[in-house]
Amino acid sequence: MAKVTAMDVYKLLPQTNCEKCGEASCMAFATKLSDKDADISSCTELSDEGFKKLDDLLAPSVKEVTIGKGEKTRVIGGDEVLYRYEESYYNQTIIAIDVADDLDELEFERKVKKIEDIAFERTGDVLKLDAIALRNKSNDVERFANCAKKLKSSKYPVFLITLNPVAMEAALNEIGDERPLMYAVTEANIDEMANLAVKYQCPITVFSPDDLEKMKDMVFTLKSLGVEDIVMDPGTLTGEAIGDTIDNFVMSRRLAIEENDENFRYPLLGVPALVKLNNKDENNQDDEVKKSIMEATIASMLINKYADIIILKGTEIWELIPILTLRQSVYTDPRWPQEVDSGIYEFGEIDKDSPVILTTNFSLTYYTVEGDLKSGNATCYLLVLNTVGRAVDVAIAGGQFDGKAVADLIKDTQIENKINTRKMVIPGLAAPLSGEIEDETGWDVMVGPRDSSAVAEFIAEKF
Ligand code: SF4
Repeated sequence: MAKVTAMDVYKLLPQTNCEKCGEASCMAFATKLSDKDADISSCTELSDEGFKKLDDLLAPSVKEVTIGKGEKTRVIGGDEVLYRYEESYYNQTIIAIDVADDLDELEFERKVKKIEDIAFERTGDVLKLDAIALRNKSNDVERFANCAKKLKSSKYPVFLITLNPVAMEAALNEIGDERPLMYAVTEANIDEMANLAVKYQCPITVFSPDDLEKMKDMVFTLKSLGVEDIVMDPGTLTGEAIGDTIDNFVMSRRLAIEENDENFRYPLLGVPALVKLNNKDENNQDDEVKKSIMEATIASMLINKYADIIILKGTEIWELIPILTLRQSVYTDPRWPQEVDSGIYEFGEIDKDSPVILTTNFSLTYYTVEGDLKSGNATCYLLVLNTVGRAVDVAIAGGQFDGKAVADLIKDTQIENKINTRKMVIPGLAAPLSGEIEDETGWDVMVGPRDSSAVAEFIAEKF
């Protein structure tokens, strides 16, 4: 679908330039709307019909679907492009963990808590899981409903996994007001499941493994039955047919974005957990490790190829860290430099004789240095130079990191009022600039290590 331009939007606005939206003109508002930087409702002058036309025009190629409510809300979909460099991907992939309803009470609570507690920090973001996928493994309707009820107190939204409409309704009776994701619709249960989705106003997943024609027919039927919030699972084939899985995900997304096919404009869901669920020899530890590696590999492929939701079984941090890290990278907006604020940062019990370390404001550089200083218990000032989010060597080549820029930073931060010394440690990669920085600043310059993991030790030795 061709990108909507500001002019396309402007044509549908009242064009009175009344400024009630807070912008100086309708064109300025149109520019913000086309950049997804404003909300249509800010224009109070639109008729209902005008609002609807504009809403349709601005609807993303992949429709947004909301799962959960209140603090548990997660939004998926919303993408406009096939390739991230063309714009950005929106609404990061939701990662849910499979929890079977046949666990005993203590095990169930432990597993839910473990899922909720998984978190680690990377480049300033805390990376976490998103949802709990409750699976009706017991085939017991009451047990499934009871487990759903327990999950009301969970801090994450819930997926309800059963093909049995009776079990689904029993669970929805307990937790339907929290907008869980229903999984799944097949040809065999489509009427009953559609009725439940409409009755409880919950999003629902269509399951059509390796058959996109059938997927299209089922999505069409669901819409005709009044279901609006749909997620598509084209099947996760985990064995030799893994290539077909990727083909189906890519084809579904191409149909949404390039062909604007109304029956494919929905978020996609994959289930890497099937690596483990289809092969149940859980006593073989070697095999478990191999399955976890395969599960992480498939999860990574699906995050790269358009999955808006993945369901995993593994909860080992060594398996999850690469998946969460990849997701963070894929959903980082490539249009904006990743940077932190420039200025002075303080570590440890600093005083007027504490050393001064210099780095750049590229976020990956900053957070690596920060982590190394903290883990090394270093006491120092960290001067962060604005290099427009560029790493040390790139900023030197690009002219953002030179003697004058460092002199300006010293002046702007007024660090000379905080310390008695005039000695600075610069990154090892900036060694060629040491003389220039000394000339421009009048400070003594020490060339530090090339790798920030050695900085804390360097400080301890030299100061
Ligand atoms: S409120 Fe609507 S009509 Fe008024 S300036 Fe903004 S976009 Fe134009």
